[in-house]
Amino acid sequence: MIAERMKMIDASGIRKVFDLAKNMKDPVNLSIGQPDFDIPEVLKEEAIAAIRDGFNRYTVTQGIDELRAGIGGALKEKKVQFEDTLVTSGVSGGLLLAFMTVINPGDEVIVPDPYFVMYKHLVNLVGGVPVFCDTYPDFRMDAGKIAALITPKTKIILVNSPSNPTGAVSDERTMREIAALAREKGLLVISDEIYDSFSYDGPCPSFGAFYDRTLTLNGFSKSLSMTGWRIGYAAGPKEIIKEMTKLQQYTFVCAPSFAQLAAVKGLDVPMEGYIAEYRGKRDLIYEGLKNEFRIVKPEGAFYMFPEAPNGAASEFVRMAIERNLLIIPGNVFSQRDTHFRISYAASSDTIKKGIDILNELARTVKQK
Ligand code: PMP
Repeated sequence: MIAERMKMIDASGIRKVFDLAKNMKDPVNLSIGQPDFDIPEVLKEEAIAAIRDGFNRYTVTQGIDELRAGIGGALKEKKVQFEDTLVTSGVSGGLLLAFMTVINPGDEVIVPDPYFVMYKHLVNLVGGVPVFCDTYPDFRMDAGKIAALITPKTKIILVNSPSNPTGAVSDERTMREIAALAREKGLLVISDEIYDSFSYDGPCPSFGAFYDRTLTLNGFSKSLSMTGWRIGYAAGPKEIIKEMTKLQQYTFVCAPSFAQLAAVKGLDVPMEGYIAEYRGKRDLIYEGLKNEFRIVKPEGAFYMFPEAPNGAASEFVRMAIERNLLIIPGNVFSQRDTHFRISYAASSDTIKKGIDILNELARTVKQK
């Protein structure tokens, strides 16, 4: 009954973790991929008013004008080059439309490893070939590493800064070097910038500022903590946006109407307070773990990717779960199984409990 293509998607890694976790009672949960604050109140009010006012129908496929104008303004402020925009159902929606639009069977897509899980599976789904760019140990994806992977079949370089799961932020020089390589080889860059507002040690550069053949994907799930409202956007060359819009017409149709309206307002909501709080959480967990773990200090997003002291992340995570701490083994995000992902999108109290459990576990493992 099931189509062959579904074999290209494998959810077993994350499922194993959640199977292990299902008997946990009130776990110390450092596995969540969304902020622990709620949508700002003004945006809730805006959405409720939109619904009451009857703004409940389909919108135009490309997204309402006010939102696209706002997104365009924000991109221009960051000097991002683009010709057109499309409002998508989250960055996930944007990724699927983008991959279906630009990847032919057999095309190679260079993907940083560790990677956000969707990249690997969606590239496979559309018949592309993910070619992993190993970024260990510092999680930097640079032009040298990418150049070594380019073949005549390479079509796309995918970049994700700040990164899920490592929290690494690419600097401007690295981006310029990758852009020069992409230009020389005639490649498209797809830049997933969903965590760009969570950048703690300076602003996060946007890839599209350095290369015109960039498809920028971003959204409001994380920055405004509205993961359930499904608003994202794509910006880039007009021939790509045009085809993505055509496909959206026959698939997602449009992003949720009321949420589009609230997102317009969201563009002006100051989030600095939240970001400062997250910087504090980053420092708390990094300082708390750095003596027992080998860790690259994350500069963005709300993840950290330390090395498991026993070198075997799945086993280490199993032991953490026995101690009521939920974290995710690195092999969910990587071809390797040596590291694990911590999300510090949690209360300080939960983070402190997690630090204590992890340090105790590291000491136990090292004694063996
Ligand atoms: N890209 C990355 C790197 C992510 O971590 C996520 C969410 N976990 C997404 C895209 C998808 O986000 P959304 O579809 O909610 O916009």
